[in-house]
Amino acid sequence: MIPAQVAYVRASTLEEAFDALSDPDAKVLAGGHSLLPVMKLRIARPSLLVDIGRLELGGVRLDDGKLRLGALATWDDLVRADELETPALAAIAECAGVIGDLQVRNRGTLGGSLAHADPASDMPAVVLALGAALELRSSEGERTVAAADFFRGPFTTALHADELIAEIVLPLPPHGSGSAYVKVEHPASGFALAGAAALMQPDGSRTIAVTGIGAQPFLLSNNTEPGAALAEAEIYGDRFASEEYRRHVAGVVVRRALERAAERAKGV
Ligand SMILES: Cc1cc2nc3c(=O)[nH]c(=O)nc-3n(C[C@H](O)[C@H](O)[C@H](O)COP(=O)(O)OP(=O)(O)OC[C@H]3O[C@@H](n4cnc5c(N)ncnc54)[C@H](O)[C@@H]3O)c2cc1C
Repeated sequence: MIPAQVAYVRASTLEEAFDALSDPDAKVLAGGHSLLPVMKLRIARPSLLVDIGRLELGGVRLDDGKLRLGALATWDDLVRADELETPALAAIAECAGVIGDLQVRNRGTLGGSLAHADPASDMPAVVLALGAALELRSSEGERTVAAADFFRGPFTTALHADELIAEIVLPLPPHGSGSAYVKVEHPASGFALAGAAALMQPDGSRTIAVTGIGAQPFLLSNNTEPGAALAEAEIYGDRFASEEYRRHVAGVVVRRALERAAERAKGV
């Protein structure tokens, strides 16, 4: 499988990236672990790749009561980040650590995964459960989109073609919170057959998000028992797993994620 011919530019500044992205057939290149496979299959045929890998969009930092994750942070960066070693934020490194293999975790980026919006990808469930917002930038300026409004369908997001995800910003959960991510993975691809992220807060409130089971990752309503919410949810079946099986597995991963998040909240 060989991709169609494509031009390449490595952006040294955000302005250079925005300039190159004014070409409507251009595509951002980050880790390339999702884009290059679809180019090889000729599902995507951009005329220009805009490599953003050298831009200052990486890193993990705590700033003014918020956690800021750079779009170019790799899975491995998240696994190793000291800032994420708290019960409340544990789901992030836990999720990053079960994505792909070492090579994927060394190259694949958070921003690339969210922009690609594969309905079976893992991290979207975590950013939803933790109430993240995405900071998007273009030559026109900056805007912030809540993760809950970002995912619009399979491989479809609120991102405009000339925009970059710059940062993912998360509110710090109160002390005494715990979070967790649990998935049952597809045995061949490793992507989530069903994945669940949960955040438990000391006041007893909880947020649960699921991935791998529908057209896009989604939050389960806080007002309904998870089992009842999943029974109502639109869940798809395919040749790997029937709708009924996915619904069942989703219930299992939700329960496990809640239990683990609660244990972390209690400091068990
Ligand atoms: C063998 C293998 C196993 C994998 N297993 C898993 C798994 O278990 N779970 C999982 O969730 N994922 C898995 N992945 C996907 C992996 O995590 C990808 O790296 C990730 O989804 C995309 O990140 P990337 O940096 O490689 O993005 P790229 O491939 O470079 O880009 C993907 C898309 O996002 C766009 N894009 C990239 N960065 C930005 C940005 N900052 N702003 C705007 N648009 C941007 C690109 O234009 C492109 O459309 C796997 C991939 C492989 C190859």
